[in-house]
Amino acid sequence: MKAKRVADDTWVVVLDKGDEPVAAIEEFAREHGIGAAGLTGIGAFERVVLGYFDRDRKEYEEIGLDEQVEVLSLVGDVALADGEPKLHAHAVVGLRSGDTRGGHLLRASVWPTLELVVTEPPAELRKRHDPETGLALIDPCL
Ligand code: ZN
Repeated sequence: MKAKRVADDTWVVVLDKGDEPVAAIEEFAREHGIGAAGLTGIGAFERVVLGYFDRDRKEYEEIGLDEQVEVLSLVGDVALADGEPKLHAHAVVGLRSGDTRGGHLLRASVWPTLELVVTEPPAELRKRHDPETGLALIDPCL
């Protein structure tokens, strides 16, 4: 992973072959003391597990793709949960046929690159546990 601050509030972060993006982005945020950010990215994965949130079971159903896919769009945010930066990202990926699959980004392996633009808002964002869903959701008033 390489990261460069390109403006006061903006970073370019480039992940390498084999990087796991959720862990890498959270590590980047921790390393640079980033408690809130928005991010977008493009690149490709050699495999990915996307999630679809099952309301009744309150957990993600896994959508596993064990093939090379283009990351057509990755959109996410970083906020603090229990004092630690936590990534929430969604991805739309493109298959060889041009068909797309999408969902909550659970885990992936980058190949050959994932190029991210990370923008820090001037304030921290914090997550609060939502008992109805069992998820940690951003509460901008915290
Ligand atoms: Zn999500």
